[in-house]
Amino acid sequence: MKNLLLIFAISLLFSCNSSAQKNSPQLEKEYPVSKTDAEWKNQLTKKQYYVLREAGTERPFSSELNKNYEKGIYHCAACDTPLFLSNHKFDSGTGWPSFDKEIEGNVAFGTDTKLGYSRDEEHCATCGGHLGHVFNDGPKETTGKRHCINGAALKFVPSK
Ligand SMILES: [Zn+2]
Repeated sequence: MKNLLLIFAISLLFSCNSSAQKNSPQLEKEYPVSKTDAEWKNQLTKKQYYVLREAGTERPFSSELNKNYEKGIYHCAACDTPLFLSNHKFDSGTGWPSFDKEIEGNVAFGTDTKLGYSRDEEHCATCGGHLGHVFNDGPKETTGKRHCINGAALKFVPSK
């Protein structure tokens, strides 16, 4: 029964969209840090698991990091890869930690059509953990980008 379901799921995946694999970075792709579902569940809190591994979104204004403006580096909460610098953080008013720039190469992008329209999804390039989305309504004086990131996906490391 399990196998049948799996075959069904796989055939769905391939019949929907030939670029499905490219658009679903968390499916099947190998990352430098790769763990089983059980291992991630064991390591992460419920909220972190929901965001990072199930591409969930935390409630706005629920993260302590939303209003954090200390100097430092935001790391991936799952694999500790540095993802964002504090000097690229700004107050977007959305209730999620927002950055105008990522640490290049450490963040990877995909497409998410969960809400019925296409959004640029972003995830950790090292472990594939979902971080949030990037939009084009960021600060015009810098990059114009707004990386809307779940605080649950981040671990803040203050600079000494
Ligand atoms: Zn990671």
